[in-house]
Order: sequence, then C-alpha cells, then structure tokens
Amino acid sequence: MHILMTPTLMTVLTFTAWFLASYLYHGLGITLGYHRLLTHASVKLPKWLTYLICSGGYLALMGSPAVWVSVHRLHHQKSDLPGDPHTPMDGFMHALVGWMTNVHQFQTDEEILRQAKDLVNDPVYKALGLTHSASQAQLCIAACVAFRVMLYIIGGPIAVIANVIAAVTVFFSTQFVNTICHLPNHGYKSFDSNDNSRNVWWVALLTLGEGWHNNHHGIPKSARHGMQWFEIDVTWYAIALFEKLGLAKDVVLPTRKVIEARQNMHLAPNLPKKVKTLETVGK
Ligand SMILES: [Zn+2]
Ligand SMILES: [Zn+2]
Repeated sequence: MHILMTPTLMTVLTFTAWFLASYLYHGLGITLGYHRLLTHASVKLPKWLTYLICSGGYLALMGSPAVWVSVHRLHHQKSDLPGDPHTPMDGFMHALVGWMTNVHQFQTDEEILRQAKDLVNDPVYKALGLTHSASQAQLCIAACVAFRVMLYIIGGPIAVIANVIAAVTVFFSTQFVNTICHLPNHGYKSFDSNDNSRNVWWVALLTLGEGWHNNHHGIPKSARHGMQWFEIDVTWYAIALFEKLGLAKDVVLPTRKVIEARQNMHLAPNLPKKVKTLETVGK
C-alpha cells in the first residue's frame, strides 16, 4: 500500500509545483508585466527583469506586448463607451473572446504606434510585432508551442499538462476582468469612475489582484489595486517584494488625499460599514 501510494503522492506534488509556478509566471507576466509595468508605468524594474516577467504574458497567448498595451490604453480612454474594444455593452461573448477577432475595427495599426509610442522602438517589443496582423498572432502561437515542447523535454508530460491548465486559466481569468468586472450587477464600486467597472473578489483572486478593477479605473497609475485590507492583491505583494530587494523603483502609490478625493463611497453599498478610508495606501 505504502509503496503504491508514493508515486501517486509524488505525481500530485510534482503537478502542484508545476501548476503554482506556471500560474505565477503567466499570471504575473500579464498583471505585473503587460499591465502595471508596460501599460501604466506604475513601477520600474531592470530591463532584464521586465523582459523575463513579460515573457510569462507572451507565453500565455497575450500576443505582442506593444499591441496589448495599445489596446488596453484605448480601453481606459473609451471605457464602456463607443470605441471601447472589449466592453460587455457590445455583448458578453464579444468582451470575453469575440473582440480578439475584430479588434482592428476599433484600432488601426497607425493608432498602435501612437498609443504605445514608448514601446515601439524597443527591439524586443518591435520584433514581437506592432500590428493587429495574423503574422503577429502566429508568431505568438508558435512561441507558445515551442515553449511547451521545451517544457516537455525538461519536465515531462506532468509539467506540460500542469502548465497548460495554468496558462488557460490565466488566459480566461484575464478576460473575466474585461467582462465580469464591467457588468453593473457584480461586485461593488469604490470610485466614481464614469464607467461600469467593478471590484469583484473572485476575479481578483484568480487574476492576482486585477479584479479590483474599479479601484484601477479610479486611479489607473497606482501600482496597488487592492486598496482596502480585505482586497488581496498578489501582484502588489510581488511589487512590494521587488522594492524590498532593491529591484523596483518609482513605485506609484496615490496619497490618501488623492484617494479620498476620487472616492465616492456612497456608490459602494456592499462595503463593510467600518471601512471608510483606504488607510493602507498613503506614501
Ligand atoms: Zn476596465
Ligand atoms: Zn489598466
């Protein structure tokens, strides 16, 4: 009995280790890399570390970083208005996956160059593509396949299965931010952000903190999205760790004055009554 259980336990432990490592690698690749680092410049990290973190996003099928950034900046400019590339106002399935097939109708390739002008001259981001073209997407798919082949050689089938499950979960969790976190009947608002963005706890858990999406629309440049004690924000914890290690610089945190000025607490009836201010943020 004991001899039979050992390999099973080893398999479970191996799978769990690969899954958790993959989830953090791909998850932080999107939330910390593509989103808080590249799109909003909420923090600065050394170039090598930025590339390493962003590779997790690229290998979770997020496509070219410069293109992703340009689409997300457009989303902030037109949030839930005509021209928003992935608002659920145009349909839930459109916001979940449909927009990826027709995003060029919302944004021209010239617009990408304008929106992401701080990235388009970087040789790595340039090589990964600056257009909404099939070739840009195909390059990303090819890299994703090659990465899993490499993983198979290093870690065998358990590593690949755990990694693929983690990457697919991360991929769809990111789309939940576009959909669930912009549906008026979910979660709560802490900021009057002139759109339908909401804070949704279970999306925040899945997306390492990105589900505090109304907080993010309220103060987009903040490196910290979870702004109250119960708003768990794993991406922020990673940034704080990098800061402690001396790797993170220029971490953008709003002062309490800014937060309170932008808050509109009467829009948050679901918040615990004792929580009135965002005490934990305030450098
Ligand atoms: Zn949004
Ligand atoms: Zn954003």
